Amino acid sequence: MNSKGILNKMTFVNKGSEFNIIPSYELEMGSTKLDLSDIIGKSINLRFLNRITCISCGRDTKKSYGQGYCYPCFISVPQTEECVFRPELCRAHEGEARDMKYAEQNCLVDQYVYLALSGGLKVGVTRYHQVPIRWVDQGAVRAIKVAIAQNRYLAGLIEVELKKIYADKTNWRKMLMGNDPWQDLTEKKRIAIEYIERQGLSFRMADDNEYSIQYPVKSFPSKIISLNLDTDTQVSGEVVGIKGQYLIFATGHVLNIRKFSGYHVEISY
Ligand SMILES: [Zn+2]
Repeated sequence: MNSKGILNKMTFVNKGSEFNIIPSYELEMGSTKLDLSDIIGKSINLRFLNRITCISCGRDTKKSYGQGYCYPCFISVPQTEECVFRPELCRAHEGEARDMKYAEQNCLVDQYVYLALSGGLKVGVTRYHQVPIRWVDQGAVRAIKVAIAQNRYLAGLIEVELKKIYADKTNWRKMLMGNDPWQDLTEKKRIAIEYIERQGLSFRMADDNEYSIQYPVKSFPSKIISLNLDTDTQVSGEVVGIKGQYLIFATGHVLNIRKFSGYHVEISY
C-alpha cells in the first residue's frame, strides 16, 4: 500500500456504542481514505515531501501556524480565534467574532463543560456537536458532562472556576503511556456542580451518562519521544497503536498527525 497526499486530522468511525466508544481511525489523503485499523502491528514508512499547503486557503506556505494554516489565515480564520482555546474570551454573544456565521454555529450554541480522564483528570469545554469527537481527539479514556451553558463565553466562565480545583491540560505523555488511574467521575462531577453553584454561575444540568473510549493500542510504550516532521522527515517503524491524534510506534516515538496538517507526505506499508 502506497499513498501520497496532504495530512489532515484523523477522523474515526465509532465501532462501539454511544457510551462505549471504539474509534476506528481513518485518514483522508486527497481523494483516498486510508483505513488506519490496517496499520496497527505493521511497519510503516512516512516521508515528508517538503511541501506544506494551507488547509484553509490552499496556498503553499513555508511554515505552518496553528496546526495547518498559512500566517494570513492563522490570524484571520475563526478556527484559530482566541476563544477556541480560552472560551472565556469569546465575544460572539456581544456580536463580535472573526466570522459571525461560524460563531452562530460554534459559539452561540450549547456548550458542554466536561470532565475527562486523559493522562489525568481535566476539565474542558466543547460545542455540543463535538461529543465524542473532542474526547477522542484528546485521547480521553473516560468522560462525563458536568454542565450545559448556552454559549461559549458562559461555558468559559464555568471552566475558569473549575480550573481552580481541576487541571485543564491534557498530560499527553501520560495519556500516550496509558497512564490513567481510575477516578470516580460521578463524584468529581458532584464536587464540580456544588462548586459552580456556589459561584452563582448560569448553567443547566447535563445528563449523568459516563462515556468510555477504547483505543486501538496493542501496547503502550514506557517512554515517549515526540516526532517532528520538520526535522524527522522520514519516519518508519512498527505502529503499535493510535490514541488521540497520535500514531504510537513500538520504539516509543509518537507522531501527532493533526499538528502536521497540510504537510505533503508519502505513506507506505
Ligand atoms: Zn491560508
